[in-house]
Amino acid sequence: MTVLNNRNQSWNIRGKHFILPGTFLSIFLAIAVTLWLTKDNLFYLFNFSYIGLSVAIGLFLTAVLPKRVRHRGRLVTQFLVGTYMVVFLGIMGKENMQIEGFFFYLFMGIFVGATIHYLVAKIGGTLVFGRGWCGYACWTVAVLDLLPWKQPKEGRIPYLGVFRYVHFLGSLGLVLYILFVLQTPPELESLRELYWFLIGNLIYYGLGFLLAVVLKDNRAVCNYVCPIPVFQKIGSRFSLMKINIKREKCVECFACERACPMDIKLLDYMYEGKRILSTECISCSTCIYVCPTDAVEYTFGLDGGFKEYLRTYGEPAATKKNRAVASSSFLNKESAVSK
Ligand code: SF4
Ligand code: SF4
Ligand code: SF4
Repeated sequence: MTVLNNRNQSWNIRGKHFILPGTFLSIFLAIAVTLWLTKDNLFYLFNFSYIGLSVAIGLFLTAVLPKRVRHRGRLVTQFLVGTYMVVFLGIMGKENMQIEGFFFYLFMGIFVGATIHYLVAKIGGTLVFGRGWCGYACWTVAVLDLLPWKQPKEGRIPYLGVFRYVHFLGSLGLVLYILFVLQTPPELESLRELYWFLIGNLIYYGLGFLLAVVLKDNRAVCNYVCPIPVFQKIGSRFSLMKINIKREKCVECFACERACPMDIKLLDYMYEGKRILSTECISCSTCIYVCPTDAVEYTFGLDGGFKEYLRTYGEPAATKKNRAVASSSFLNKESAVSK
């Protein structure tokens, strides 16, 4: 079925467009019902049904909206899930959804919304959906993504990403110190948890905004500050769902690389005959929307790898001319290695 909107841009509604949203909704509903029955708590039924529905709506819009505005489907999910997490769980539920909150609850053996959120969305889920949380749901970038630098002006600053690991270890160390040295565990649903969550978020937003302006990159906070990828990069390496480029359809225009918010050199993976193995991929689907030949797609499969092909700081944005040179030297290097 094809429906026309008032700008005469075609919405593309077909039966196959219900498959991916339906699959995600079914998975989330299965989790919702399982936890509801095993934990005898209606919260789980509501929580996972709501998140599943939010994801399914975004995926459906992404599939059927006119290509020019297809990215709005992702923004809808990001808004629905992000605001729910902050307002319902964080502010109303007074749960510390920051990584320190997760560490506290984990070491204290407390199974609350924050624990489940981390275990499902940010750790276990990466084995199936990669870093889909970062592309579709994070409340921090739900705001930062409104800034104008959706594609980074420059590439990655080498070694600055190590700060994510420092942050991760610092947060873990702080929690261990408070729990086992000071022996002052947090009280559930207390004001301290709420303040920790709110102040932590304000720092993230402030730092994220500053870095985005200075580096002209909406996602700079993800690349250099946020500790969550330390978890995510383990599972997403082996994620079942990954981006793939159909080589026979690719005309090497490099539009996908120029549009990627995470500086990934997608074609280097294609030249190797692999899916996009980079653990920096946030499954945002931008590369799919911009491809003029529909060569980019999601596929499910078993693979993994340790190569990160990323544009580094100062490297020009990919064009047919400059990347063609890079591609040929890449291919020569690969064939030299294989000799
Ligand atoms: S890396 Fe951190 S800030 Fe960036 S999207 Fe993921 S969770 Fe959010
Ligand atoms: S490779 Fe595609 S899906 Fe992954 S981050 Fe880049 S644009 Fe988004
Ligand atoms: S946008 Fe499509 S055609 Fe262009 S380089 Fe990327 S995959 Fe190939």
